Amino acid sequence: MRDVRVPIEFKNKKVTVLGLARSGVAAALVLKQEGARVFGSDAKSPDPVVVKPLEQLNIDFETNGHSERVFDADLVVLSPGIPLQSPVVLDLKKRGVDIISEIELAYQLTEADIVAITGSNGKSTTTALAGEIFKRAPFRSRVGGNIGDALCGQVAGLGKGDVLIAEVSSFQLDTIKEFRPRAAAILNLTPDHLDRYPSADAYYLSKIGITKNQTMDDLIVLNNDDPESRRMRPNIRGNVTQALFSSKEKPVFGACVDNGYVAYCGTNGMVRIVRQDEIALPGPHNLMNVLAVVPLAMRYAIPVEAIAETLRQFKGIEHRIEFVAEKKGVRFYNDSKATNIDSVRWALLSMKGRVHLIAGGRDKNSDYTLLSGMVKERVATACLIGEAAEKIRAAWKEHVPVRMEKSMESAVAAAYAQAKPGENVLLSPACASFDMYRNYEERGRHFKSIVGAL
Ligand code: ADP
Repeated sequence: MRDVRVPIEFKNKKVTVLGLARSGVAAALVLKQEGARVFGSDAKSPDPVVVKPLEQLNIDFETNGHSERVFDADLVVLSPGIPLQSPVVLDLKKRGVDIISEIELAYQLTEADIVAITGSNGKSTTTALAGEIFKRAPFRSRVGGNIGDALCGQVAGLGKGDVLIAEVSSFQLDTIKEFRPRAAAILNLTPDHLDRYPSADAYYLSKIGITKNQTMDDLIVLNNDDPESRRMRPNIRGNVTQALFSSKEKPVFGACVDNGYVAYCGTNGMVRIVRQDEIALPGPHNLMNVLAVVPLAMRYAIPVEAIAETLRQFKGIEHRIEFVAEKKGVRFYNDSKATNIDSVRWALLSMKGRVHLIAGGRDKNSDYTLLSGMVKERVATACLIGEAAEKIRAAWKEHVPVRMEKSMESAVAAAYAQAKPGENVLLSPACASFDMYRNYEERGRHFKSIVGAL
């Protein structure tokens, strides 16, 4: 169901792709296929394996800096890692060059419906869950965006009537133009990325941008339990169909918990989907993710039993409160993807028994005192690593015994030494990984290998 709109013509257009990580490279490849004259540019030295396909397809690119050629473009595709305030972007704007994100490019290139999921936390888990549920639909569907392949790497072969499920970040949403998901969810709004946005509200508004081009024919699914989502709701355009999800109340339209069942509230009343205690995903936060998915799946008429079956089976994805091992009665969990305050809060809430918490990494201008209460209540020892260790220590030292550790190895050893049977060692850093690792995956894998060798 496409409206009257004129898709961007890429043939023979001069397009600069700024940032040559996964999504930039995927954008360059698809643009080349579309007949554009593509030039890639990265301020740093990108991963040679990631940029290899550019060489193979004779796509020109430069690394370790942006030359004047960047500006000789009809259009720029901006990677989410490059801040809007960076000099190169400001310069492009000054010169009036059109800038779009890679998800906009994907949108321009597909007739498939886009189902988009954003929020501060839970995007990957919820997108993966939606992907599993939609696999059971009679139409084709794929998952992309921050999770797995870049979105524009997934458009080939999908057509009208198919669905592309997209995990989208605020950075990707900052530079959309026409991107219009036929159904979308904002899972929650909690402070994050304050190193890139002037305020939490600016960051929230960027997420709300997911509704920018939606109409009454489209669906936006919103969290009714989350105070910031409620507060920001007046900023959502009125002429979009809104569904609410809540674990506490029963919305007229949306999803809720009814007598221990996850239920859909639709035009024909309430439909029970699955018993809450049958859901394989752990923790109260994941119940919210499940509730967010329900209206999306029902929108696409996926049978209730198919949704239920997936919810019974889907255990989550790596690095999200991932159970690693039990050693001498101590359970180890890898939550390396917890790169902000709220995700750590939920990880702590999900643990049965006291927690020896490994936290720290690169600070994102976060306020760790927000966790003090929860830390006091649930954490037995905090083992701190990385650049943010001192800042976190200052925030928590009155509430919990704090250990400053030099490495992941020593942090795991210290946490394990303190832990009694029935307790947990949890890596849930509240910080980015880039001070010590290439990414959160590498950090999580390192943690797991150390635990494996204990
Ligand atoms: P994202 O893609 O938004 O970063 P993930 O699914 O990768 O979300 O999860 C990131 C972190 O947030 C993990 O630590 C995970 O356990 C936690 N988390 C998942 N869902 C939620 C939620 N609904 N609310 C708060 N934290 C969540």
